[in-house]
Amino acid sequence: MLGLMQNQPLLISSLIDFAQRHHGDVEVVSRRVEGDIHRYTYADVASRSRQVANALDAAGLAFSDRVATLAWNGYRHLELYFGVSGSGRVLHTVNPRLHPDQIAWVLNHAEDAVMCFDLTFLPLIQAVHAKCPTVKHWIALCDADKLPADTGIPGLLSYEAWMGSQSTTYVWPEFDENSASSMCYTSGTTGNPKAVLYSHRSTILHAYASALPDVMCLSARDAILPVVPMFHVNAWGLPYSAAMIGAKMVFPGPALDGKSIYELMEAERVTFAAGVPTIWQMLLGHMQPAGLRFSTLKRTVIGGSACPPAMITAFNDVYGVEVLHAWGMTEMSPLGTLCTLKNKHLTLSKEEQMKIRLKQGQCIFGVDMKIVGEDGQELPHDGKTFGDLLVRGPWVVDNYYKAEGPNPLVKDANGLGWFPTGDVATIDVDGYMQITDRSKDVIKSGGEWISSIDVENIAMAHPAVAMAACIGMKHPKWDERPIVVVVKKPGAEVSREELLAFYEGKTAKWQIPDDVVFVPAIPLGGTGKMLKNKLRDTLSTYKLPGL
Ligand code: AMP
Repeated sequence: MLGLMQNQPLLISSLIDFAQRHHGDVEVVSRRVEGDIHRYTYADVASRSRQVANALDAAGLAFSDRVATLAWNGYRHLELYFGVSGSGRVLHTVNPRLHPDQIAWVLNHAEDAVMCFDLTFLPLIQAVHAKCPTVKHWIALCDADKLPADTGIPGLLSYEAWMGSQSTTYVWPEFDENSASSMCYTSGTTGNPKAVLYSHRSTILHAYASALPDVMCLSARDAILPVVPMFHVNAWGLPYSAAMIGAKMVFPGPALDGKSIYELMEAERVTFAAGVPTIWQMLLGHMQPAGLRFSTLKRTVIGGSACPPAMITAFNDVYGVEVLHAWGMTEMSPLGTLCTLKNKHLTLSKEEQMKIRLKQGQCIFGVDMKIVGEDGQELPHDGKTFGDLLVRGPWVVDNYYKAEGPNPLVKDANGLGWFPTGDVATIDVDGYMQITDRSKDVIKSGGEWISSIDVENIAMAHPAVAMAACIGMKHPKWDERPIVVVVKKPGAEVSREELLAFYEGKTAKWQIPDDVVFVPAIPLGGTGKMLKNKLRDTLSTYKLPGL
């Protein structure tokens, strides 16, 4: 017997309709590429999203046609989020940090019909446009009078000229909630990028779940600053969840340095911010020497790579800002776990609480996870045993768009499909998961595994260290031994011997790295993660001490 409730599809257009109706006067503030601050309201977002939908109709785009963006976090990008998906087309957010050849490759693979880009990326578009025959409309996200002449891009229009004359009236179509809404390519370090194709249903369910009190705890009283880019897993879904609860949005545009972020936070009274550790490193690096404080910031979600303990301490203890350590991936929309303390943890000592905060956290409702050994057997949740982390849930990928290989899911005894994350983790009795490594980065020494994240965290706690990467080096006896590659803070000094001595007493002796290599910079990938394979390449002639 079926239930007798209304079968209304979960559609992205409902989010902007809701925000307009119930929070129409709430502000959306953006730092623009031009450098100035733009402000308007959800009512404006809604009517301009409808103009975008009309412009797409006028351009003859069919249902499910792809519209690409190459853009910073800003109000025009937000209008495309709602206008493109709301009208039944698929928003393809392209990561500008990909190599130009990869950008051309993803545009062709997605068969994008329209490309909307910030003027920052004009040189990139000039370099790739001739290689992208599917793109029929090139739109620069700027005012008509800002459109440069003689760009060489055929038919290039300014966004305002393209959509500005369209009607603000548009009835959002109703369709199957499982229809594709947006797509994001994984910034894979090997091979071609793979496309994750989100649906309206997965996006709405993810937005509900991420707003929950023990997840991001979002409310209409918040002012949300997503520093995490809208071109990387939809800014962790924040444009959707903020509209769902009617929170003020603050967009940083291209200015991601510590000073610009700090000033925007203070000027716009930001209460909640989300970003990767490298971004917060720059923010703290700006604030600490100048003795600056936050006047309104209450919570920050940190994820994308492991949050170092020193960063949690700085935010929590020095600035009174709660750190929510989160884990997820492009294939998971992205949220999988988030670390909030339970009641019983509140009476623990600071040190014991820190041990929990360093974990990536508990599953949010909707996501199920387990760890398995090499034989595929499930491993115990004892906080010590580590294994390959597998996940399933309604916002977890089922397969990649135009997948080349076999379906990535691993079937269990009941025939249920689990997505192998490529992460190695422990899960404790309370269900808190802790990533120990990417499976390809884990260091195997004398038959035991060393977590590169643990080794990096200790180095990062040294006051002279700005960034640390631990990698395994071939060893004739131990198979591999860890070394730590370190970037020093500007003006700070620490010797190899001092840093190695810093490890004493903080980890087992055999887990202390064999060497420290100082470098001016560590290569970072398109989403701010350390590129360890590139680092290994640059150290190809390196020899461990004594070999
Ligand atoms: P991406 O798909 O580019 O967002 O990358 C996802 C990967 O980033 C995950 O599989 C993890 O390896 C890593 N990651 C994300 N969040 C964290 C975290 N909080 N701690 C450690 N690794 C993380």
